[in-house]
Amino acid sequence: MSNDQATILVTGGAGYIGSHAVLALQQSGYNVVVLDNLVYGHRELVEDVLQAKLIVGDTNDRALLDQLFSTHDIAAVMHFAAYAYVGESVTDPAKYYRNNVIGTLTLLEAMIAANIKKFVFSSTCATYGVPKTVPIPEDHPQDPINPYGATKLMVERILADFDVAHQFKSVCFRYFNAAGADPDGRLGEDHNPETHLIPLVLMAALGKRDSISVFGTDYPTPDGTCIRDYIHVADLATAHVLGLEYLLKGGDSQLFNLGNGNGFSVKEVIDAAQQVTGRTIKIVEGDRRPGDPPALVGSSEKAIAMLGWKSQYADIHQILTHAWNWHQKRHG
Ligand code: UDP
Repeated sequence: MSNDQATILVTGGAGYIGSHAVLALQQSGYNVVVLDNLVYGHRELVEDVLQAKLIVGDTNDRALLDQLFSTHDIAAVMHFAAYAYVGESVTDPAKYYRNNVIGTLTLLEAMIAANIKKFVFSSTCATYGVPKTVPIPEDHPQDPINPYGATKLMVERILADFDVAHQFKSVCFRYFNAAGADPDGRLGEDHNPETHLIPLVLMAALGKRDSISVFGTDYPTPDGTCIRDYIHVADLATAHVLGLEYLLKGGDSQLFNLGNGNGFSVKEVIDAAQQVTGRTIKIVEGDRRPGDPPALVGSSEKAIAMLGWKSQYADIHQILTHAWNWHQKRHG
């Protein structure tokens, strides 16, 4: 099947990473149908910017899924639709298990019924919990420390079982910290509420927030703040297209980390943001945030070797520059 003919269903395509994946798919010649409940997604990104077909609904809605699969010739599904606030998952776990696990199970059952058996899944490094070794390889033990990570790990397990039972082929990507924005400024990060470091730092640079709080300065890291592996969202999107193509060519189920293999501390990110924006950002040192491991850095050697993936925007300054361009346009 050539790219021109293949239609890919992207769930959560109105969200941050999903919308960048839709763009990457379109640029590779695929037709895209988006399913999004618009709880956190943005209709205008799909309809106006990406000009893709948007179906508003839930992955929990089996009747909607059956109708969708009978009216569109879907070759594969990329599944981003999920709730992803770690803190909220701790206070309202049922919301996360219902949407992220039961919703995904409903989607998978509808796919089996429609004989669609190729699936690219948005998983997370949060499935590892507190790492025993850094950089983290894919075979590192998985022991999530919050319900969000647990929901993603459960889906990984369901996918392994579906492969055995139904020859259902999946690629799971465990991302490290998605960051940045479309280099051409069409798409970017716009969460409400926003909890992530880089957008909050940039909102402080824009004067939309007074300051940035640093969550913990007593970690066992060189400057005492947490270290994370920030990966450009456009590089994540490219990996998803490569994962899809691997499956469409008949590849077996696989799990891949996606990170740059470089860690930056919270203070380093804020320093780099001050350089990129040319603005002084007020810092307030605060307590640790519960559930934050000191350092999360991923090894992506497997994706590089098996998929031919390579990150194009590994430089934190470039990641921040693209995010800054987007934030100025969206919130300036
Ligand atoms: N962080 C922070 N202040 C904030 C938001 C985040 O110091 O206002 C820290 C957080 O503790 C973590 C890092 O920045 O160490 C990245 O957090 P983020 O929420 O962006 O991503 P996560 O690592 O939780 O997926």
